[in-house]
Amino acid sequence: MSQAFYLPTRVFGGADCLKTHAAFFRTLGTKALVVTGRRSAVATGAGADLASALETQGIDYELFDQVPPNPGITEVREAAAVARAEDVDFVVGIGGGSPLDAAKAIAVLATNDLDDQALFVPPFAKLPLPIVAIPTTAGTGSEVTPYAILTNDRIQSKSNLGHETLFPRAAFLDARYTYGLPRHVTVNTALDQLSHLVEGYLAVRGTPFSSELALQGLRSLGPALRALAINQEQPSPALRETLLLSSTTAGMVITHTGTTAVHALGYGLTYFKDIDHGRANALLLPESLVFLQPAHGDKVRDILDALDMRNLQDFRSLVDSLLGPKETLTEAEMRQFAAIAIQARNMANTPRYPPRPTWWNSTEGASLPRDAPPRSDGARMSILRPGVARCLSTTKMI
Ligand SMILES: [Zn+2]
Repeated sequence: MSQAFYLPTRVFGGADCLKTHAAFFRTLGTKALVVTGRRSAVATGAGADLASALETQGIDYELFDQVPPNPGITEVREAAAVARAEDVDFVVGIGGGSPLDAAKAIAVLATNDLDDQALFVPPFAKLPLPIVAIPTTAGTGSEVTPYAILTNDRIQSKSNLGHETLFPRAAFLDARYTYGLPRHVTVNTALDQLSHLVEGYLAVRGTPFSSELALQGLRSLGPALRALAINQEQPSPALRETLLLSSTTAGMVITHTGTTAVHALGYGLTYFKDIDHGRANALLLPESLVFLQPAHGDKVRDILDALDMRNLQDFRSLVDSLLGPKETLTEAEMRQFAAIAIQARNMANTPRYPPRPTWWNSTEGASLPRDAPPRSDGARMSILRPGVARCLSTTKMI
């Protein structure tokens, strides 16, 4: 197991951290492109705080506030054209995962001429512009990762643009920007970070450092999720602070581990069914643990212990209570999403199942969809595909 750990993002945290550390922006240049969604920068106050921080440092900026949820290549090209035309020195992303990830792709396209396929094949000929991330949700962790996840129509899913030159130079964590989030956003983003911590702990690429971080993140997140499930009111400032901290911790984890089958499958639910990213993962997460438990019982036990849970039923109950009523999915859709997900790079990062899982010949196995392949499908398919089908088939969406 690799013991490498590299995370070059400078993290500033606490109330008013943009104001306190405004001088940092001077190290990046004299003109910025501020990238955000249609509302988040204004509604949270982060946009105004950034504007005054830049002004105090004599830094000019252009605003691109047209990043949609789940942005695609077209939108980032549009913003990159603005970055070039205005000759900016750096890019600041404000928002949830969509604007932060868009900011990274924009930073690449501002300095590199790349077609839609080459964009996802780093390294790049020229260094991307420096990136600064200001999260206004607590879930993506993008502020400390070198990943930009973009909707990619060519593969009918999302593609991961990842390279070490995409680490933000700085992340500003001010939990006040998350105070006004609607409940469904708070819940979905909290479930996304749960997924990052659980998948990161189980991932093939896990390291001793990422595992420690994942368990610590789960210890913080467990009580926070229970509080969210019990209390329908707006979370307290202290709870918001906890959620933002554990979200960034989860980002540090997936920086080193990547994600696994749950995210690969979740992208299909988002692309085809417009299910929010965190929610899509959470629909798949409990069953993925049930599936992995026979082969990776010790690790699943560690996850449950860190969350202070007795068993997987406790895990499922908590996730289900946060999800509420679930979506419907036909068997044909399930087959289609599984076939796409199986091609994703993060499938190989999913821990392997034993060659002959204990449920293979059991009556439980009979509940698998009929298209579960025979073992002669080739090693990779025979190991992974039943898992994909099983994860999807048991989200109770049929
Ligand atoms: Zn995620």
